[in-house]
Amino acid sequence: MAETKKFKTESKRLLDLMVNSIYTNREIFLRELISNASDAIDKYHLLSLTDEKLEKRSDYEIHLYVDKKKRTLTITDNGIGMTHDELVDHLGTIASSGSRDFLDKISDENLKKDANIIGQFGVGFYSAFMVAKKVLVETKSPFSDKAYSFASDGTESYTLNEIQKDGVGTSITLFLRDNKDEDKYDEFLSEYTLEELVKKYSDYIRYPIKMEVTESTPKLDKDGKEIENEFDEKKVIKTLNSMIPLWRKGKKEVSEEELKEFYKSKFNDYDDPMRSAYVSVEGLVTYNALLFIPSHAPYNLYSESYERGLKLYAKGVFIMDACKDLVPTYLRFMKGLVDSDDLSLNISREMLQQDKQLKKIADSLEKKMVGELEKMKNGDADKYAEFFKLYGVNLKYGIYESFGSRKDTLKDLILFTSVNQEKPITLKQYVEAMAKDQKVIYYASAKSKDAVKAMPQMDKLKKAGFDVLVLTEDIDEFMLSMMGDYDSKLFKNINQGDLEILSKEEEEKYNLLKDEKKPFLDKIKELLTGKVSDVVLSKRLSDSAVCLVSGEGNVSFGMEKAIANTQAEEKAKADRILELNPNHALFQAIEKAYDTNSANLGEYANLIYSQALLIEGFPLENPVEFANSMNKLLIENASK
Ligand code: ADP
Repeated sequence: MAETKKFKTESKRLLDLMVNSIYTNREIFLRELISNASDAIDKYHLLSLTDEKLEKRSDYEIHLYVDKKKRTLTITDNGIGMTHDELVDHLGTIASSGSRDFLDKISDENLKKDANIIGQFGVGFYSAFMVAKKVLVETKSPFSDKAYSFASDGTESYTLNEIQKDGVGTSITLFLRDNKDEDKYDEFLSEYTLEELVKKYSDYIRYPIKMEVTESTPKLDKDGKEIENEFDEKKVIKTLNSMIPLWRKGKKEVSEEELKEFYKSKFNDYDDPMRSAYVSVEGLVTYNALLFIPSHAPYNLYSESYERGLKLYAKGVFIMDACKDLVPTYLRFMKGLVDSDDLSLNISREMLQQDKQLKKIADSLEKKMVGELEKMKNGDADKYAEFFKLYGVNLKYGIYESFGSRKDTLKDLILFTSVNQEKPITLKQYVEAMAKDQKVIYYASAKSKDAVKAMPQMDKLKKAGFDVLVLTEDIDEFMLSMMGDYDSKLFKNINQGDLEILSKEEEEKYNLLKDEKKPFLDKIKELLTGKVSDVVLSKRLSDSAVCLVSGEGNVSFGMEKAIANTQAEEKAKADRILELNPNHALFQAIEKAYDTNSANLGEYANLIYSQALLIEGFPLENPVEFANSMNKLLIENASK
């Protein structure tokens, strides 16, 4: 009994696009249908390993049949087939994520403008309608007693029928569209074209793709010599593909171009990858891998919905799509696949984590991935900088999360913006450029390089010409604190502790002055009780009047702000030490107010503290009080 159903809305939209596309690269329909056929055989095989009901087989194949009279092309497989409900679910509704991405990216307008866009996505079954005016699917699943057909012209609806079919699997018949002037669909009936298309797109498919072809051999005369221009023709069944997956072909056999194409079709990406690598390892573990870094970060890279991992194959057989045990979190952006003969075929997902071989492969792969990053960094600094902008934060987390144990692996892969350098630099470059009398690596947390340059804490460092790393991401300071040092050089926050920048004589002078000013400083500290932990003479200021710093080894202002941005319940607070520049006119003015027992001293102290807070980017505790004090001063002075 025939049953007619309507397509789901999403599918209908995709169908409309396919049917009406003036797409020049419509030949990819064959790649899509063959890839579905191959997946279906993979599924059968995998299930047959564990499911007694499924007969164990070794006759897997995909077959292409051409009927020139009826103008049909049929693609059959002896894979898993579909039950009645699967037909409805899988072909009546968009199944593939590739198709959905495609719909998201494309508007009908765009499609007309850029006809080549379809080929970049895995658009699946529906691509058949680019070349066919009608599609007939006949299929039998081993889990159903009955076989079914699905027929549609790709407009509104499709029709299901119960049919007779020998053996499990699926056969898809395309009734090719009529040839129009410039639109020739007959090419898909040509043996030659089909063979070329299989070689181009589906060569690595692991099952034989067979087709009857005409083989012509030169006619021989009675002496056994070839007769010129005369041929014997006979029909033979030929396997069109080499069946060697790209990743098993051997490094030298695979071009950069092939890797890119492979990446785009396997990982449903529209753009070329930023980097691809063919990895082949033999030794303690044996595996081949293809690694890719996408040229744009997936939109959900940092959300829970993102599935990190590589596709996993054992002995050439597909096991799973995203094996996360093969990719440490800090390399979550890596895409690719791994195939190893060391893994057992019936390895289950549950067992994977305990698998010793897999662990060894993962360890080896991690080194390879890091090695690829190093190569990129050493080979093309600009490209690496681009990479780092997209994904660098993951590497930083890698150092932080490992409590520093990955420090040696990753320390030279981290890039920093710095005050003195135009382009991002590594710690190695920083240290190499250090001045002779510079003892530590300076850094400052701020929103931008300009913000760091404007910091009062930069006064003396600027004069000395010392470079300062600009930390703009919340993770940065935490990462540095986990690293502890680089090349035995300690890291120093420019608004924390002693900058170690004064000469011996300057230190001595400073110490004398400190003792001399102690009563005054103590008084200011007393006036700011509860607000600051100390008031001291500054060693780092030269032009600026005041600044706020926190104590050596304590939580810094940058950390305080970063923690405030998190969900953490306990918000750490940095201590606030007020530094005054004894050489600034402001210092002398306030000191005079102290010497003359001015009643305004408390208000002045608060004004100084408030401006130090503002400079540091902290909110004022009492903005109205601050405004009132400012106004009082302005009125007194402006009316003079
Ligand atoms: P995708 O293959 O990317 O999931 P498609 O639209 O090409 O998307 O196919 C939708 C679904 O239909 C597949 O996921 C699969 O379950 C089913 N399917 C397609 N072709 C076959 C086939 N030859 N044999 C069995 N199932 C198939």
